[in-house]
Amino acid sequence: MAVSVNRSLCPQNHPCPSIRVCPEKALKQNGYDAPLVNKEKCTLCGKCVRFCPMGALYINK
Ligand code: SF4
Repeated sequence: MAVSVNRSLCPQNHPCPSIRVCPEKALKQNGYDAPLVNKEKCTLCGKCVRFCPMGALYINK
């Protein structure tokens, strides 16, 4: 399992707000691109998935 980003739901025109809520600092963003998930750090807590207002983050089972 991994957190994935649905790039078609992410408008990629703003700083990703979910980066702030990740307790593991597993999300990063280059410019306004869709965020990238560091799978080594991610614990699959789901906070970013619940926080993204666009529903662009999801847990890929
Ligand atoms: S699921 Fe949790 S640990 Fe993983 S990227 Fe999202 S907020 Fe961070």
